[in-house]
Amino acid sequence: MRRTANNRPPFLCATSRGKDIGENMSICGGVAGVRGGNPNKIFFHNDGGSQNANAAFYQNWLQSHPLENGFAHYYVADDGILQAEDDWNMAWHCGDSDGNANGLSVEACQSLGDTTTFLQNEEKALQLAARKCMEYGIVPSASTIMLHQEVYATSCPHRSVEIHGGFSGCKNYFINRIRELMGMEQMPEVSYSGGASAGSGGDAGVVFTYGVRTEDGTILPFVNNLADFAGIIGQKITDIAIKVNKGSVRYRVHILGRPADEWLDYVTGCDWNDPINGFAGNGQIIDAIEVYYYTPADIVAAHGYQQAQYRVSPVNGNYYPWQYDNDMDNGQDGFAGAFGIAMDRFQLF
Ligand SMILES: [Zn+2]
Repeated sequence: MRRTANNRPPFLCATSRGKDIGENMSICGGVAGVRGGNPNKIFFHNDGGSQNANAAFYQNWLQSHPLENGFAHYYVADDGILQAEDDWNMAWHCGDSDGNANGLSVEACQSLGDTTTFLQNEEKALQLAARKCMEYGIVPSASTIMLHQEVYATSCPHRSVEIHGGFSGCKNYFINRIRELMGMEQMPEVSYSGGASAGSGGDAGVVFTYGVRTEDGTILPFVNNLADFAGIIGQKITDIAIKVNKGSVRYRVHILGRPADEWLDYVTGCDWNDPINGFAGNGQIIDAIEVYYYTPADIVAAHGYQQAQYRVSPVNGNYYPWQYDNDMDNGQDGFAGAFGIAMDRFQLF
């Protein structure tokens, strides 16, 4: 979606402090320590506070209560946004050491108050998150846009989860709203698991791990599901390696310039040192890939058949539509890619 000046996220800071003003000017004063780097993810909280629990309230409250009980970087309420801790400091906000060390924490306040006010606060919190993602180069995804309940046994962010259709619905909404605010394309709606209130959700816990080799021979690090994409924008992909934590996967690629019915053999392994069955490709530039997922019986019984869902992008272009296994229903091709056009990004989940 095109980003316009009108939906540029505003930035309100109740304390009117900037990065250029002194050190340790924040309310919390770096009590949880310095990160030693930029935050790489954003955590969302709901404060569990009443209609009166606004930014002014928290400004006083934080200075009159022990910080060991927990605090966040930002408190977003109908009277503004209170920044209680500097971004470069850690905060005790989620009960998880990695989350506290690397996460930027945002409270959508007045979460027990009226719905209109809360939703406005939540939207401002998402706008703040979009700004922070841009500032720190955070790409909004399942692994960077976090709900508190993903790392701790809590219902937080309780009101957001309730309003947006449960844990998975809320996670999808947050990721995509932030991406929209940043002018990025949307992620597909997927079923996320891991939230404390997710219960017996529909997620089968299937994790694909995949990586690519680019035209200069570089093997890039593996990525998992939609946490990232495999590839480097602008660099043609020559080979792809895939594995999955449950069940098995069969995949093959098509070499650019070859006849449409001439694919390389299927492979099922994932090992860059095994040129026979460890990856698909022969070092030449590819233009299409087919992936098929074999669902194990226990997952079929509990969740039904699962499919490999994957997509690629032409070099320096936007992604083509998602493909599901080798399906050719509903206008699908049975593979991802376009004959005659090299690709630079690959995603699979
Ligand atoms: Zn929380």
